[in-house]
Amino acid sequence: MTKFNRKAVDEFELIQTYFVRSDEAPGVITGIGDDGAVLQPASGREIISVIDTLVEGIHFPDGTDPFDIGYRAVAVNLSDIAAMGGRPRWMTLALTLPSAEESWVSRFAEGLHAAATEYRVALVGGDTTLGKSLVVSVQVTGDVATGAAIKRSGAQAGDQIFVTGTVGDAAAGLELLSAGRPQQYLSSRFLRPNARVDYGQALTGIATAAIDLSDGLFADLSKLLTASGVGGVLQIEKLPLSKQLGELFDLEAQRRFALTGGDDYELCFTAPAGSAPKLSGLLVTDIGTVTDDEVLVCHLDGQVVPFEDSGYRHFL
Ligand code: ADP
Ligand code: MG
Repeated sequence: MTKFNRKAVDEFELIQTYFVRSDEAPGVITGIGDDGAVLQPASGREIISVIDTLVEGIHFPDGTDPFDIGYRAVAVNLSDIAAMGGRPRWMTLALTLPSAEESWVSRFAEGLHAAATEYRVALVGGDTTLGKSLVVSVQVTGDVATGAAIKRSGAQAGDQIFVTGTVGDAAAGLELLSAGRPQQYLSSRFLRPNARVDYGQALTGIATAAIDLSDGLFADLSKLLTASGVGGVLQIEKLPLSKQLGELFDLEAQRRFALTGGDDYELCFTAPAGSAPKLSGLLVTDIGTVTDDEVLVCHLDGQVVPFEDSGYRHFL
């Protein structure tokens, strides 16, 4: 379909120049250039399909470096694949642009391909169109051994609750970015999230349930526990907080970011006590216990603390 007018950059040229990569990718029979991609699923494995849309002004501030937009659009999807215990394989990209500015597309594509190379996922198709605002949708297809996908619904009373990395950094980073006072480490935790795909795969057969942290630890863990029909105790003093967060915020603010801040894209999972796998270089912290209650309760130094999810508002 022709979406660009004659004066604008030619759509075909744009795709050829910025999105097609000559490298052959595993399982890709036909990639970009035909009406559809033809992909070869691996035997003994099931397909996992995820999609996430980023809208300028909603999911990232206006004027964000297009490299970061491209990188982040891939990483947030890979995080969903990671939470299922999957291996990322292929992705498609739907790009809606307010104008066909080549310099923007070039930098965006650099970020997208940087993430694609790092996580070994091949871009196999997409759609490019003009529209009123900037919208980036990435769809990723992954796979997992038959029956091995980790769901949200398997947590059992008595399991421990774990989280990877540190929490709260991305929300603090976004707050600082939006206030025009970016702090390099914290802002990069928002702009270039780590998708824990290697660790997610290591969790298959061990974790009873998993979710990735996009809306905030308390909200996302609550979703997992509800899906599993159980409750939990979250121990506030155990929350893993980064040194950089501690340098800029008092302990109460750090804990508020950790509990209610979104966009960390760390994995939160449940597993029998002591069974969390170790992966070199990745912090994994036991932060609580699954109960046969139906609610998630926060404990601080052995006392129940009332929790109000009011501290953080998503960027608008
Ligand atoms: P159609 O007319 O069938 O919609 P298009 O001209 O939109 O085809 O796309 C031509 C080819 O380029 C297709 O293989 C499509 O998947 C791919 N493509 C279009 N936009 C993108 C993009 N932004 N990134 C990657 N591939 C794209
Ligand atoms: Mg098309």
